[in-house]
Amino acid sequence: MATGKTPPGSMTRRALFVAGGVALLAACTHHPAEQATDAAHPAAAAHPAAEATRSAASPRASTRLTRKEPAVTRPARTGPHAVGRGADGGALPMTHVDDGRMAIALTIDDGPSPIYTPQVLRLLDKYQVTATFSMIGLEVDANPAVAREVAAAGHVIANHTWSHPDLAYLPPAVIADQIDRSFGAIHQVTGRVPTLFRAPYGAWSPAVFQYCAQARMTPLDWSVDPRDWSRPGVAAIVGNIMRNTRTGSIILEHDGGGNRAQTVAALKIVLPRLLDAGYHFVTP
Ligand SMILES: [Zn+2]
Repeated sequence: MATGKTPPGSMTRRALFVAGGVALLAACTHHPAEQATDAAHPAAAAHPAAEATRSAASPRASTRLTRKEPAVTRPARTGPHAVGRGADGGALPMTHVDDGRMAIALTIDDGPSPIYTPQVLRLLDKYQVTATFSMIGLEVDANPAVAREVAAAGHVIANHTWSHPDLAYLPPAVIADQIDRSFGAIHQVTGRVPTLFRAPYGAWSPAVFQYCAQARMTPLDWSVDPRDWSRPGVAAIVGNIMRNTRTGSIILEHDGGGNRAQTVAALKIVLPRLLDAGYHFVTP
């Protein structure tokens, strides 16, 4: 057809520009709660890590609601790896581990959960697997004993923001507040200093990369996503992981943000299968 004569790339660029404008507008109009929370705690911007410890209790009820909504309905954006990647001229999140043949990593997001995290911990212990838990500050604050259990079992704890917003179009001050408040909760509860940061929804931006660099955190992404959060069925989760995992893969799973019974059931099958296939687990 005649549309085949269109100069290469021109439609794509226009589409991206329009999409970016819409997304920016959406971010401005659909995240009033985060703006309000931030404005209500102006001190957090000045001394965010310390403030997180002192004010952890007060914003919990309101921010918890804003977190739950995107966590269960996510993601609005498909293809999260395309977002912000390289947009600042070079910064890229880590998608693979580089630790020799058959080395892979397991990352478990959105907890700690009092229901599912202990079940995941029992499986990891059974198979002697060390994983990385990307924790949400609010959940650490709400479930400190579970967070401590994860740390005591020797797993890595990554920072996954305070309340799980899509950071891609949020201003630098809000990004800093989200990361610093989560840092404060994780450090206070577990004694750990997280050096890995995972952006909710894999939604990165130049401002997020910049703050990671400033706070000396490695941006962490993934390469195997069985979309367990969408509850596609245990067999689908297992099949996706077994089909897509290879040396260096970082697998994404979830112990928080909703009913994760399928994730636990899938891990029960997939952990021994991956070990039988010759893989061993490392941390990023
Ligand atoms: Zn998440």
